[in-house]
Formats: sequence, C-alpha cells, structure tokens
Amino acid sequence: DITDQQTLEQQNKQTLAITVKKSDFTEWYQQVIRKGELIEYYDVSGCYILRPWAYFIWEQIQRYFDDLIRTEDVENAYFPMLLPSKYLIKKQDHVQVQKAEIAWVTKQGQNILNEPLAIRPTSEIIMYPAFAKWIQSYRDLPLKVNQWTNIIRWELQQPTPFIKTREFLWQEGHTAHQRREEAIKQVYTILDFYEQVYNELLAVPVIKGIKTESEKFLGADFTTTIETIIPQNGRGLQCATSHHLGQNFSRMFDINFEDDKKQKIYVWQTSWGLTTRSIGAMIMFHSDNKGLILPPRIAKYQIIIIPIIQKDIDQILLINRCEQIKQILIKLKLRVYIDSRDNYSIGWKFNKWEQKGVPIRLEIGPEEFKNNQVTVISRFNNKKYQITIQELNQLNQILDNIHNSMLKKAEIELNQKIKNADNWNEFMLQFNQRNTILTKWCERTQCEQQIKTKSGQESKEKDLKFDGLIQPSKGASALCMPLKQDQIIEGQKCFHCNQQAKKYVLWGRSY
Ligand code: AMP
Repeated sequence: DITDQQTLEQQNKQTLAITVKKSDFTEWYQQVIRKGELIEYYDVSGCYILRPWAYFIWEQIQRYFDDLIRTEDVENAYFPMLLPSKYLIKKQDHVQVQKAEIAWVTKQGQNILNEPLAIRPTSEIIMYPAFAKWIQSYRDLPLKVNQWTNIIRWELQQPTPFIKTREFLWQEGHTAHQRREEAIKQVYTILDFYEQVYNELLAVPVIKGIKTESEKFLGADFTTTIETIIPQNGRGLQCATSHHLGQNFSRMFDINFEDDKKQKIYVWQTSWGLTTRSIGAMIMFHSDNKGLILPPRIAKYQIIIIPIIQKDIDQILLINRCEQIKQILIKLKLRVYIDSRDNYSIGWKFNKWEQKGVPIRLEIGPEEFKNNQVTVISRFNNKKYQITIQELNQLNQILDNIHNSMLKKAEIELNQKIKNADNWNEFMLQFNQRNTILTKWCERTQCEQQIKTKSGQESKEKDLKFDGLIQPSKGASALCMPLKQDQIIEGQKCFHCNQQAKKYVLWGRSY
C-alpha cells in the first residue's frame, strides 16, 4: 500500500541523512565514514573494518606509489610480523615507538611462550639483520626494499578511524647506500613522492619540512615530513615521514661493505612510511554536510548513471541507453556504475551516491533520451548542466578540473589556518583560536619543551584518552620547520626566549 511505502521511504531517508553539520566535527566525521560505507566498527578498540569503498582508495594509493618508487628501482618484498624479544631488548634505545605501544604475543594455546614475540610496530629491527647478510660489497648497493603491510601500535590517545588507529596499513621503504649524499637525495625524492600522492591523488595540500630534534624518528640523523592542517579544528596532521638514518642502524646491525680499496664502510640508510591515515586527511578536507566528496582519481566509481524512469518512457529503452553510455565511458577509461535498482526511489539514490561521494552523477530521463543528452551534476560544487552524447569525451577533462578545484580550495583553507606570532601573547591567542602558528625560533630543545608545557597549561582545550578520560591538552608541538623558509631569519630573535632565532617553525596541536 502506497502510504506504507511512503512512510518506509521517509524513514529510510531519515536514517540515511547525516544528522549533524560539519561544524560538529567529531560526530560529523563518524557519520560520514559510516554512512559513506568506508568503515564498519569492530569490537577491538582502535581497530576498524575497511569496507571495499575505502579499500579501493588504498589500492589506488598503492598503485600510484608503486609506480613512483619503481622509477627509483625500489623492489617490493615481505618480512615477518613477529619480532623476537631479544632483538628488541638489545636495540631498545633505537626503537622509535614507545615501549608501551608494543603489543606482545605471549602464549601458544595454553602454553606460555619461552620467548615472547612482539608484533611489528615498524620493521627496522626485523629487516636489518637480513640487510647485513645481503650486503658484502659496494656492488650490492644501493639496496632498496619496500613492503606493504599492517602495523600495530598500541596508541593511548583517543582513536580516530584512519587518522589514529591501533592497527593500520602502510608501506615502509628501506634503502642502503654507499654514500651519505645518495641517501639524503633518496630521502627528499621520497618526500616529493609523498607530496605527489597527497596533491595528485587525494587533492590534499601539504607542507614539506624537517622535524625538530625532539620530534624526529629515534635513531635517525634527521626526519623529513609532510604536514597538513585540518581546517575544522586546526590540528596538525603528520601525513608521511622520510628519515635519513645516517650510519646509526648500520653500525648497530653491522651492515657494511668493502669499497674498492678493501676498506670496511658502514652503509648510509633511509626509511620512509605512508599509512591509511592519508585517507582520513582526504575525508576531513573534502567532505561536506551531505557526506563524502571523493577526489576523482581515488573514487571507485567516478561516475554514477541514474536512469530517471518515468511513466512516459519505455524502461528497457532507457536502461539500454544507459548501458550504451556506460560502454562509451569505459572506453574513456572511466569507472562507472549504473544504478537501475527498482526497489529504491530516485531521491533515495541521489542521497546515497552523494553520501558515498561519487564525483559525477549522470541523469538520463525522457528529456535527455529524446535529445541524445545527459544531465551532469558535479558532487563537488553542485553544478548542473547538459552535454550531448558526442560530448561525453569531455568527462576526463571535467574530472581533472574537479580535482584541481578541490586541491585549490583545500590550499586556501590550509593557508587560512597558518598565522604569524612575534611574542607569547600573540602565540597563545592564535593557539586558543585553533590555528597553527609560524614563528621565529632558536632551535633549542629546552625552549621547545617549555613552549609545549606552557601552552598546554594555558590552553582552553582538553584531550581525550582511549578510555574516554579527559586529560589536559598536549600543548603546542613543533609540527615542522618548513623547507621553504621564505623570510630572512638572520639577526632575528626567538619569539619565546628572545635568543638568536635560527629557523621559522610551525607550531600546533597535533593529532
Ligand atoms: P613513523 O614510522 O613513526 O615515522 O610513522 C610513519 C607515518 O605513520 C607517520 O608519518 C604518520 O603519518 C603515520 N602514523 C603514525 N601513527 C599512526 C596511527 N596510529 N594510525 C595511522 N597512521 C599513523
């Protein structure tokens, strides 16, 4: 009966719609990722199910990044996920991850293991004993290996799907070189690749920089990073890191070679990682009150075709037309789906695909059929217009334009969150308004620690722990020293301690 069906549909729409605005950011994010069918919740805290809609994005990132690192002759391999405790105890000073964050396997059935095994939080210690076996002579260099795996870090802060999880997916690349300069070049090439992944695939702008001494990877000579700022809450997000390990690990693991003068030389190493966090950054930048907005290059479907079935048109003819159009689009190498389900209303379908963030909707109804046209609606800016079937080959360009506009909009939003401060009052004013702050700084760790503690104490924000307890804010950390130091620093003073300034540094509350 019609009334029943109408109520059912209304209910459907209600459960479907996102009930809060993007300004209610935490709740909004949870709804967007669930209703957009990216994430399903799971009974282990900090672990989430990546549904096909999300996993496809990860696969696109993998393909793109694999192609990039192949140009650098990096090879993919796989190393075990379990780490003998004796390795860790011996090398613990150089394990980047806090000891509290390491998960352990301690039992086999009911039997307690003689030697507990750690689950990899990162794989330097797992890989480098093998590197020592493989590298004997300078002819074995450079050695460049990458692996795509999962990682476990028992984070103690409140989890955020994609952004901060206890299990996550990543790639970790590890290279060994004859010379220091070669390793340094590798570090920056990879950093550029990471920037490309964020800009070219995810339409997310990033700032390239170097970590301060206290924020760098333990055991690295220096850490380069790409950082972004989430516009809604002003939080800094470390998007990926590329480390120059110097000879620290090669000395520890005895990874050396004989040069042509038969001299023993320790190799120069790099390591670098990018995780599923990247997907979270993309969602936070680009989605809106209606749901996801996927940048075209990572959307499983770039185009959704919806036949507008009405009484005055033969349904079969209309579906056939949709099918023809789909075939044309497939030839253009576009990813397309026709939603011809007859148990859902057209309005319901519009909502659903908007929530899932498909970049373009094509509508084909009686009018379009008659005129050999389609109606194009862009998810990103709601623009609606007609093109003819002959003009369908414009869609590649239209999608590229959407990507570029999304990136440009995001760049403007990011830049609005960066403020300057010349003294402590200005700094705290901006910090409390959820901005990140670019300041002159002396580069002293002690000064950095004071800034962190003081800004935490004076901050109006609180942080959440995993168990839901509220704790004082972490304070401002140094996100990075941007590679582009646009202004002259010579003769300037540190904004905090008034000593000689050495670098411009970007401060913020980080995830
Ligand atoms: P690291 O090995 O510590 O340099 O980490 C590599 C990258 O992993 C970082 O730059 C972050 O972008 C990302 N990352 C760190 N912790 C997490 C987490 N808990 N969940 C998702 N991504 C993370």
